[in-house]
Amino acid sequence: MTRITDVHIHIQPWRDMLPHVQASMRRGKEDHWDFLLAMMDDPQALLEVMDRSGVWRVGLVNYPSPDVMGFNDTTNTFAANYARANPERLLPYGGVHPRVTKDPAGDVDKLVDLGIRVLKIHPPHQGFPANAYTDGLDALGKIYRRCEERGLPVMVHTGTSIFPGARSKYGNPMELDDVAIDFPDLSILMAHGGRPLYMEEAFFILRRHRRVWLDLSGIPPARLLEYFPRLADVVDRALWGTDWPSPGVKDLRQNIDQFLGLPLTDEHRHAILERNALALLPPRP
Ligand SMILES: [Zn+2]
Repeated sequence: MTRITDVHIHIQPWRDMLPHVQASMRRGKEDHWDFLLAMMDDPQALLEVMDRSGVWRVGLVNYPSPDVMGFNDTTNTFAANYARANPERLLPYGGVHPRVTKDPAGDVDKLVDLGIRVLKIHPPHQGFPANAYTDGLDALGKIYRRCEERGLPVMVHTGTSIFPGARSKYGNPMELDDVAIDFPDLSILMAHGGRPLYMEEAFFILRRHRRVWLDLSGIPPARLLEYFPRLADVVDRALWGTDWPSPGVKDLRQNIDQFLGLPLTDEHRHAILERNALALLPPRP
């Protein structure tokens, strides 16, 4: 396979991370920490890693989380600038923080103007459930609405997060039931399938809503079928992702090889590694 898209890697301005967050990110990667830090400012270094790993395209996950992670809105221009090194292969993601923004729709438009391909919402790092617009956080509803109007897919983190200050109770995918009902034309990319606590909820939401897609990142590939035994039922909406270089994710290629070792048909492998991402995130001329 030569057209693999990894929809979820963390290329972020790590220098902005709060010191205690940086310390927990660094754990276990001490020996190549300097390389990773340098890569965050060097797209060529990333492209070489991708070439070595047989990965065609990657999604560069970015979102503002000033109080928990340390990233502010400059994370959006960071992603857009980084991707300019190779717009075909590097897909920049960005975010609008509903508690910070003064112009939710206008800020979504700015992301579109920057060339951002996916808007990321991170409930445990941003401090609200994904359906908080039903309970007073109006800006969040305006963000979803504008993304729906502009055809900008939204990625929502589901499942736990181990960073200090992250509130994992906001990782429940059931909250996406409201979002999918209230914004029926919005494409929603459910990151991590609720792992490790909420897989049943995640699978329910996926089966119920045709515009919800599953991003497999953060799920150890060798155990994917334990987490989602009926993966075949949603295989036309499951997208490959690794979450590299987040804690516990060592290598882009190692994850692909583990995935290829699963008892799936070639057709299903092709759908997950290549075809579905081309449908959700088509190459731009
Ligand atoms: Zn992630």
